[in-house]
Amino acid sequence: MEIELIQITPITGIVEGMKTSRRKDHIEKIPEKIFKWGHWSVLEHSSMTVRIREISRACSHQLVRHRIGVTFTQESQRYFDPLMDPNWFIIPPRIAQNDELKQKYVKARNREADEYRYYRENKIPKEDARFCLPNACKTTVTWTFNMNSLIWFFEQRLKKDAQWEIRMLAQKLFDLVMTTDWKEFIQYWKPKSRR
Ligand SMILES: Cc1cc2nc3c(=O)[nH]c(=O)nc-3n(C[C@H](O)[C@H](O)[C@H](O)COP(=O)(O)OP(=O)(O)OC[C@H]3O[C@@H](n4cnc5c(N)ncnc54)[C@H](O)[C@@H]3O)c2cc1C
Repeated sequence: MEIELIQITPITGIVEGMKTSRRKDHIEKIPEKIFKWGHWSVLEHSSMTVRIREISRACSHQLVRHRIGVTFTQESQRYFDPLMDPNWFIIPPRIAQNDELKQKYVKARNREADEYRYYRENKIPKEDARFCLPNACKTTVTWTFNMNSLIWFFEQRLKKDAQWEIRMLAQKLFDLVMTTDWKEFIQYWKPKSRR
């Protein structure tokens, strides 16, 4: 799994939003106060776009359930042959660490790849041939979100009971965000504070 930062807007919009809200030119400790007061909507003045590569479609299905303050563009399986990449599927770690299970898993994926190629050789278009491919198929997604929707995503997907792959995505994204100016705000977020 790789996350590439495509673009990020400055935090100026959030700071200016708070100045408008409080009718003051300068407000001390703006980031801390937004999180303390739960003034969440002000965080929507900043947005970020990332490209996520090498996640499964099982993971992207979960990702695109987040509807508010976000937009997604996903690689098309109608125009792109997923088997172009020889490592075209994700192996869940719990399967990868057991040789016997991994062997069975890889064999099943190879059968699906053969079936896909068979349909393609028989002039079936990609949009139909793909029906035999699994959730394990790797995909690429470009995702734009604002800081408020990101915090809500973290609330739900950094939790221990979140599924491992989307939790890994959330953790990697959190680590990435903390290397940007957004850290000035995100550092004040505490799990379960955003509801
Ligand atoms: C551990 C876990 C397990 C899950 N299991 C399943 C599952 O088995 N099946 C499944 O289908 N999904 C499942 N989900 C996905 C979950 O149901 C949500 O779709 C997903 O987490 C996005 O959350 P959200 O709707 O709050 O976010 P967003 O779509 O970003 O919405 C943000 C908030 O806006 C408000 N909102 C959005 N749309 C509306 C609307 N139309 N009307 C009123 N208010 C609205 C709500 O307050 C919502 O919380 C799971 C999620 C998690 C974290």
